[in-house]
Amino acid sequence: MGMEQLLEKASGYMKEQDLARIREAYEYAEEAHRGQLRKSGEPYILHPLAVAEILVNMQMDVVTVMAALLHDVVEDTNVTVDDVREKFGETIAGLVDGLTKLEKIHFRSKEEQQNENYRKMFLAMANDIRVILIKLSDRLHNMRTLKFQSEESQRRIAHETLEIYCPIAHRLGISAIKWEMEDIALRFLNPQQYYRIANLMKKKRTEREEYISELIDRIREKLEEMGIQGDISGRPKHIFSVYKKMTTRNKQFNEIYDLLAIRILVDNVKDCYATLGIIHTLWKPMPGRFKDYIAMPKANMYQSLHTTVVGPTGEPTEIQIRTWEMHRTSEFGIAAHWAYKEGKETGVVQGSFGDKMSWFREIIELQQETRDAAEFMESVKMDFFTD
Ligand code: GDP
Repeated sequence: MGMEQLLEKASGYMKEQDLARIREAYEYAEEAHRGQLRKSGEPYILHPLAVAEILVNMQMDVVTVMAALLHDVVEDTNVTVDDVREKFGETIAGLVDGLTKLEKIHFRSKEEQQNENYRKMFLAMANDIRVILIKLSDRLHNMRTLKFQSEESQRRIAHETLEIYCPIAHRLGISAIKWEMEDIALRFLNPQQYYRIANLMKKKRTEREEYISELIDRIREKLEEMGIQGDISGRPKHIFSVYKKMTTRNKQFNEIYDLLAIRILVDNVKDCYATLGIIHTLWKPMPGRFKDYIAMPKANMYQSLHTTVVGPTGEPTEIQIRTWEMHRTSEFGIAAHWAYKEGKETGVVQGSFGDKMSWFREIIELQQETRDAAEFMESVKMDFFTD
């Protein structure tokens, strides 16, 4: 993907004047990185460009996209933070500086030092949360291009991604990035299991497709009768989540029945509950499997209705119902709430959304109180790994 395509994509939600600023940042970065290559042998600039694209796909603001394009210039070229400040202003310089500092963190094997490193990472995020959004996008692209690294680096990076970056993505509700990173990490850490599950899923999916599409037709008919606009689709599970279920719950592959589930997207909350009613009159719900994450959102803001029904063939079938807006949040989390606003230059999460992110503030406060890095990391880890 080149600059022109990036601008084309960004033009879907940005104004001309912002597109011009993005082009300026690109030209600056392109010149600074000129002559440098990625391990893949491609011109280096393709990396920041790819990172910017991931952020544009999440409809992030102009400042974030510019900082993404510039994120490696201080680290890898002669350009200084002062140069960036002079040319692009304080906010972008701050983001680039934050990312450069994160880049310098070398994850060592010794537990204590590693904890100190994580602590630094949380500190870098505290100033402007956009730092971590760029960092996650950066890591995602590095994972996508992991095959060009040495085998040792592949394992180290994949491990670090699973241990540190995936939990952060989960906490911020950015499941689109989390899921892709988890699947790639598994592919490098346990290729045998990865490809085995991938193949089994492919086979099973073909078997199930007809069954699912019958159910979808039935739901569609009913929704039309009730005058509800809904988008109904089959939703494949991610390989890592199947793997996790098999390992943590000690299940065989053929014991996992929700490989292909159904997702219904509707216009508003009222329609969510009406659709749930329709589903439960069509098929019997399985006891204990109904979850109302609309009335009680998850800590990462995820909202949806979950139910598992006994389908016409007796097979349990998982169904998710949510609004389009909830769907955006379920994919992009905090980034979805970063509604693109003109002139928005602050990276501090505010308002009701800020309240929901209070865990984040608590972490920052905690780190200010805790002298001992290991102790701090223990508390953060606990927070991260429980839902
Ligand atoms: P539950 O018992 O119904 O909550 O089941 P799970 O926790 O196993 O979740 C079932 C499915 O819901 C998952 O496979 C995801 O597709 C979706 N889900 C659950 N939690 C989240 C979340 O925090 N974010 C997103 N995007 N999806 C989620």
